[in-house]
Amino acid sequence: MLNLKDIKKYYNVGGTETRALDGVTVAFRKKEFVAILGPSGSGKTTMLNVIGGLDQYDSGDLIINGQSTKHFKLTDWDAYRNNSIGFVFQSYNLIGHQGILDNVELGMTLSGIPKEERRKRAQEALERVGLKDHLNKKPSQLSGGQMQRVAIARALANDPEILLCDEPTGALDSETSVQIMNLIQELSQEKLVIMVTHNPDLAREYADRIIEFSDGKILTDSNPYIEEKPDNDFELKRTRMSFLTALRLSFNNIRTKKGRTFLTSFASSIGIIGIAIVLSLSNGFQKQIDKTQSETLAQFPVTISQITQDNTELFSNANTKKQEKAAKDQVLAKTSEQDLAQHTNDLSTEYVDYIKKINPDWSNNVSFSRSTNLNLLRDVDGTIKQVQFSNAKAEGQNAASFATSTGVGISVFPDQLDPSKDNFLKQNYQVVDGQYPSNPNDLVLIVDENGTTNVNALNNLGFDVKNGESISYQDILGTTIKLAFNNAYYTKLPTGNFIPNQDLTKVYDNSQNQTLKIVGILKAKSSATMDLLAPGIAYSDSLTQEVIKQNKDSEIVKAQDQSKTNVLTNETLDETKKAAVLTYLGANATPSSIYIYPNNFKTKEKILTYLDDYNKGKDKADQVLYTDLAGTMTKLTGGLMDAITYVLVAFAGISLVTSMIMIGILTYTSVLERTKEIGVLKALGARKKDITRVFDAETAILGVASGVLGVAIAYAATFPINQILENLTDLQNVAQLNPIHAVILIVISTILTMLGGHLPARMAAKKDAAIALRAE
Ligand code: ADP
Ligand code: MG
Repeated sequence: MLNLKDIKKYYNVGGTETRALDGVTVAFRKKEFVAILGPSGSGKTTMLNVIGGLDQYDSGDLIINGQSTKHFKLTDWDAYRNNSIGFVFQSYNLIGHQGILDNVELGMTLSGIPKEERRKRAQEALERVGLKDHLNKKPSQLSGGQMQRVAIARALANDPEILLCDEPTGALDSETSVQIMNLIQELSQEKLVIMVTHNPDLAREYADRIIEFSDGKILTDSNPYIEEKPDNDFELKRTRMSFLTALRLSFNNIRTKKGRTFLTSFASSIGIIGIAIVLSLSNGFQKQIDKTQSETLAQFPVTISQITQDNTELFSNANTKKQEKAAKDQVLAKTSEQDLAQHTNDLSTEYVDYIKKINPDWSNNVSFSRSTNLNLLRDVDGTIKQVQFSNAKAEGQNAASFATSTGVGISVFPDQLDPSKDNFLKQNYQVVDGQYPSNPNDLVLIVDENGTTNVNALNNLGFDVKNGESISYQDILGTTIKLAFNNAYYTKLPTGNFIPNQDLTKVYDNSQNQTLKIVGILKAKSSATMDLLAPGIAYSDSLTQEVIKQNKDSEIVKAQDQSKTNVLTNETLDETKKAAVLTYLGANATPSSIYIYPNNFKTKEKILTYLDDYNKGKDKADQVLYTDLAGTMTKLTGGLMDAITYVLVAFAGISLVTSMIMIGILTYTSVLERTKEIGVLKALGARKKDITRVFDAETAILGVASGVLGVAIAYAATFPINQILENLTDLQNVAQLNPIHAVILIVISTILTMLGGHLPARMAAKKDAAIALRAE
């Protein structure tokens, strides 16, 4: 059945060519016990390896059941070893981390025999070699003779036609040797057994046929065989190992190295921990920012002022800027960049009307700030006093001084475009005492979250409080103030100039006056909400509009319109100053600023588009530019957050690469450690692919383990991190690990470790089986 014709095998080590087999020609019968006898180093192992297909020969021809192996592919050899050959080695070559049953099953596992049949056949084989009582032991729990029996059972389990035994009793005492030899002799009744030994007594006692061997040559053959007509029933079943088998094999291996595996997984999980924590923090912070945005920033107004910065100009200017430099003895006169970027908005009646047409679904609250003065008087304990809405510290009560009367920080709350919709004050402010204003003449006092308001605002209203003193709600609520119009307030002097009427009581009692009343004390709803109105008095824009309506045709306005000097102070005025005085007196309704409060974050975009539409097709100078402070801030924080996340993830990513390299080194170590096992697997018919799989499976297990460990540790870490952050910043649950991120990280960890381990795995698969088995 087996016929070797002129087989040669050369080895080339260190540049010198050695010849292990030198034209060996021999044929074997289907059933016989052949002993190959020769001194050590004579080429006996090489011969067995060539017969078993572990070591491919260089020339000659091997004929198995009448078929030449010349056209065998690697996988054919694998299948041949798995189906037809059983190897028994001198040093047993059992896989230490597998149980005895698993060891015996390994060859059948490779040929894809189902689990139950495998187990049954392995048990039978072990019973046959007399190990019935040791089925559930590990190789290390057995004696040498018992281990060799396991090896024989493993060789038998797949029911091979040829049993190859390489010095099977070399490591055994004489008594045990006899038992093993008897067992092998018994097996030779059914199979071709080729045994290699350097012990002539053993050979003569048990073998049917002795071939003497020396220096790779056959010297004598006690019972030569000439093959006559070969039978052609040779067929190979292909072997294949499933990834699951590979996983199980590696899992058992890893189990024997728990400490190392844990440390490795932990070390390589550090990168994952880093990334997971960075992601969960940025995730949480982004959520906080988004929340804050919708709570506060969305309500933050889009501002249109008479004079604004043109950022587009600033940027394009910076880009195209030529480097101009003054000569040594010259001064270079240039417009500053800031001046270049300054843009004057013409807030004409046309534009104001355009703004008023904004869809109330986008912004229901638009406010205009105007520099128009209100002539206010209050009866304080029987004395009539001039008062004003201002948070600026008033030097004296001189109404003619513009500096104080144009006021700093007086708040005008916006009028609703659609009264049926939610109102700005109701949305953002809550009543501390009193009620919300219900008509244009109602005033409110704004306090901050601590119930504090501006002392100047109260002083300017005629309340006698000092810094740090408290005043009861009741003293403030219900306070009435008279609003006098220009004709009642100013008197014309014979010179044509005007002065405020000195008889305040008379002005106070004028029937044309409007009565204003403080109806409520309000504060911002949530502390997170940005204060849109400054602490102090706030009044409606309708009130200002009413004042303008009444005052624009007043005597003083008419006079001022004709005059080149200030009708109150006689100061000479240029065009700009004159316009300012006219506005102050209520001559026109041009606002100094417009504030548009978006209803929510989404509608803001629509408002901005609406504002952009106005500028379409207009000259640069005629365009009206707005400032979206909230948008600028959002972009800034969002971009910053992203940048920080990227940088941190990149840093943590470096440790991922480090762990990938580490896993590579570890797999390489594992390959070195498991060289024998690789040889055994190959002797049992494992394909290259199967060997790669075993190591890929091992790294896959490590990758999943380190990924899961990393994610678990990162998740556990979010609790103390959140505790610390809450103590530091009052923000709750900032660190939140997104489950999708967790899954992605585990996948990345698995892929990276598998990548790192795949190269050593390929190296393992390429290992020469014959050399692997020689390795000690
Ligand atoms: P035996 O089993 O009879 O002791 P071997 O078959 O192991 O002998 O080796 C026969 C000869 O071939 C020895 O001289 C050995 O050094 C050489 N040899 C075997 N395998 C290799 C190899 N992989 N590389 C180099 N030399 C080898
Ligand atoms: Mg040998």
